[in-house]
Amino acid sequence: MLSKGSKLYSILKYKCPRCQEGQLFTYKGWSYTRFSGMHSNCPCCRQSYEPEPGFYYGAMYVSYAITTAITISLLVAMSVLLEEITLAWFLGALATALLVFFPFIFRMSRAIWINFFIHYKKTPTASA
Ligand SMILES: [Zn+2]
Repeated sequence: MLSKGSKLYSILKYKCPRCQEGQLFTYKGWSYTRFSGMHSNCPCCRQSYEPEPGFYYGAMYVSYAITTAITISLLVAMSVLLEEITLAWFLGALATALLVFFPFIFRMSRAIWINFFIHYKKTPTASA
């Protein structure tokens, strides 16, 4: 299912949407200080990662959808696990979850957004 050439491969592995070889982000690991660094072009196929100025403003819509999914999941999990949920508990848990997952939400929404516009093209320069 997660084979090269699919959008899901590019999104989940943070790979270039065009060649699926180069990394989207400069730092591969989980870091709260370096998560946002992006290459300006793909290191492998030179595809621009910012096709136009302000390209990633649209990723806010994707971020909103992911945040909504996290909010609903948290609410369902709390209502199953706890007898009673107070507004303060829910807001505290939500703020914590969003802070913890912020790098993930940021990267995932950018990866999904760029995959809306740039499609996979197998290039002869890309290995394997
Ligand atoms: Zn590429």
